[in-house]
Amino acid sequence: MDVSSQDIEAIVRQVIAGINPETVKRSVAPMYRTNGSKGDFGVFDTADDAVNAAHKAQRIWVSDYKVEDRKRIVDAIRRCTRANAREWSEKIVEETGMGRVEDKIEKHLAVANKTPGPECLTTSAISGDTGLMIEEYAPFGVICSITPTTNPTETIVNNTISMISGGNTVVYNVHPRAKKICAECLKTLNKTIIEAGGPENLITMVKEPTMDTVDTLAANPKVRLMAGTGGMGMVNALLRSGKKCIGAGAGNPPVIVDETADAKLAGEKVYEGASFDNNILCFAEKEVFVIEPNYDTFIKSIQSAGAYLLDREQTRRLTEMCLIKKKSGDGYEANKDWVGQNASKILAQIGVNVPDSTRLCVCEVDANHPFVMAEQMMPVLPVVRCKNFDEAVEFALEAEHGNRHTSSIFSKDVDHMTRFARLIETTIYVKNSCTKAGVGIGGEGHCTMTIAGPTGEGITDARSFCRKRRCVLAEGGLRIV
Ligand code: NAD
Repeated sequence: MDVSSQDIEAIVRQVIAGINPETVKRSVAPMYRTNGSKGDFGVFDTADDAVNAAHKAQRIWVSDYKVEDRKRIVDAIRRCTRANAREWSEKIVEETGMGRVEDKIEKHLAVANKTPGPECLTTSAISGDTGLMIEEYAPFGVICSITPTTNPTETIVNNTISMISGGNTVVYNVHPRAKKICAECLKTLNKTIIEAGGPENLITMVKEPTMDTVDTLAANPKVRLMAGTGGMGMVNALLRSGKKCIGAGAGNPPVIVDETADAKLAGEKVYEGASFDNNILCFAEKEVFVIEPNYDTFIKSIQSAGAYLLDREQTRRLTEMCLIKKKSGDGYEANKDWVGQNASKILAQIGVNVPDSTRLCVCEVDANHPFVMAEQMMPVLPVVRCKNFDEAVEFALEAEHGNRHTSSIFSKDVDHMTRFARLIETTIYVKNSCTKAGVGIGGEGHCTMTIAGPTGEGITDARSFCRKRRCVLAEGGLRIV
């Protein structure tokens, strides 16, 4: 008889668990071998093996586990993420070369603590003269999730909680530039799931993710839903796949600071939000439109908060260095060498020495400047002086490019707040705070790393990754009135 090290581990766990009958019941789960799987705690050499293992796990997940089990396992994932937040954050910075460890820790804690679990899957019921109807959130089955380099493990934790809460299992195609840390995170989460009594391969991934493996996953009939978090190239490719998909694409969030705003508060909050994780977040403030009477106060405030104000020549040099013309000739895009770098490193390249505690630089530019129009994802924030509110709105709409992702306004004028909200139509709309408040980081509401604007699910949670199913009982059944 062949006995693998995983089998021995499972047997030992059962013997230890034998002390407590309740734990025995739970610990039987790791004995379920999904297919004598070839994977290493969820990491598979081929896309099809990753799907097959997740498919078998999904059948077990829905047949042998209750909602209580899902809650217990999700809680274990939360604890595991909190315990690993620092280590994973340090390793992401090491592998991707982007962002700030302290901010990544905050993102991990946000997804661990504020991603809703199975409790958000409530049943709706209608009772009437013709009987009873219930609608419940049911799993799709196996979901393929494509994750970005900017929030690699944060998205894995967030999507895992959201997707398995609804009875799904997940195959990840992670960003190649973050594959090492993603594999480590995925293995750790799978070990945690097994230790908490869950099945193997609830989440799997392809060891060497490529565009081709995305195609293989999309073509596999066992994959019932594609969920993609990243740039618009990827989202558009998913939309063409012919499968049901949830697409979370790019943003370029504009901020308006109007003449009624507390411009000092605006400077402080925009500094905090635009410098968070060196501005690589899709929902981070990317350009600011300030109406004339508040312009100088805003600039002074953002400087006192810690920003370095670039002069005209420095702005010109950074534009050349940090942005490149798109191959299509249609505008500019970020030079990846500078995406997510510290402001001090960017500034040093043009001979300006500032301490690492300077988290942001700002430049005063026109509304059509490439720093305004490109999703630059670096701590270089363009600020545009506007004559009036209408002009600021017009510029903001142009800069957002119809992504309908995120925007914010600093104002005390309710009409302005409402007018901008109606015209910009973004999924996240924040008033008088950082845009990260829109995903529950310093704001109310749950957290997500998958903001699905293009396909309409918005701030995703477990409900977004479920199918609604209806069950009807004819009159004479369960009604009590
Ligand atoms: P990216 O588009 O380069 O990569 C994202 C993922 O898609 C990766 O796994 C990548 O391998 C894959 N991919 C890229 N092009 C593809 C294609 N043609 N076909 C199939 N797969 C493809 O993005 P990134 O640099 O990792 O992340 C930054 C971008 O993602 C920014 O544009 C940002 O706004 C966006 N983003 C959006 C959200 C959101 O919730 N809406 C969250 C995070 C990041």
